[in-house]
Amino acid sequence: MPDPVGPRRASVLRRPAEMLAAARGWHARGQSIGLVPTMGALHRGHLSLVRRARTGNDVVVVSVFVNPLQFGPGEDFARYPRQPEQDLELLGAEGVDAVYMPGVDDMYPAQATTRVRVAGLDGVLEGAHRPGHFEGVATVVTKLFNAVRPDRAYFGRKDAQQAALITRMACDLDTGIDVVVLPTVREPDGLALSSRNAYLSPEQRAAAPCLHRALRAADDCYLAGERDPARLQAVMSALLDGEPQADPDYAVAVDPDDFESPGRLALLAVRFGKVRLIDNHLLGEPWPVSR
Ligand code: AMP
Repeated sequence: MPDPVGPRRASVLRRPAEMLAAARGWHARGQSIGLVPTMGALHRGHLSLVRRARTGNDVVVVSVFVNPLQFGPGEDFARYPRQPEQDLELLGAEGVDAVYMPGVDDMYPAQATTRVRVAGLDGVLEGAHRPGHFEGVATVVTKLFNAVRPDRAYFGRKDAQQAALITRMACDLDTGIDVVVLPTVREPDGLALSSRNAYLSPEQRAAAPCLHRALRAADDCYLAGERDPARLQAVMSALLDGEPQADPDYAVAVDPDDFESPGRLALLAVRFGKVRLIDNHLLGEPWPVSR
């Protein structure tokens, strides 16, 4: 029988002041708030964060905002997938209380020049390959934290350097927000879910699981006793070199705290034509989803 009230829709808040007023209301009633920041084009990876937020908070807010500040010139800001109606339907079905969908002008009025920078972590790997990216991320997440006033905020380990940077920032700025970092959700062939997977041609999509295979190969070596980061890196590079569609930006094994000195966090960034994918695995740790 059809549902007489129709599918549940989360309420949509579009302005920072409106969001802040709602957050103050929830807190005044003693309710805790969980925030899941996203850029939309939602997939099962995002929904895994939403479900975890649902279990630990009275109110769940998901932000959907394609943040221009974190895209460099020539990157994919203009063509980044946007599907707000589909996102709202998915979030309604997940029982999300509110979706914060600000416009670019609401977030960055012309007079707003403040930027947030997390020194150190923002200058290596993703930070080095995408200058300004992490300043854009840190600035938007600070603004989201200020408008939503969450008790907890949920991020994916797929973006490991971003998660580390936000964890550091939340601590450095005395936000009191508990930053929860959750495992990467993958396709059955190992490819990490990403909104950018939609850009891949069929040939590129067929080649893309090489990121996961490279991480697996490094992990197998690690589990067999290899501890030399240079050798672990060589294993990943050899596997990626065998895939003609793949053009690696980096394949490294670094310390998970500084993302610079050698260590056991295997990190990859690989281009398939214009599409750039990232993935990672902390070597020696169990794989959260089926290998
Ligand atoms: P995005 O919309 O790509 O900015 O991602 C929003 C949040 O979802 C970030 O914290 C990501 O790390 C997380 N996320 C993206 N892909 C996945 C995935 N495959 N598994 C788990 N979390 C993810």
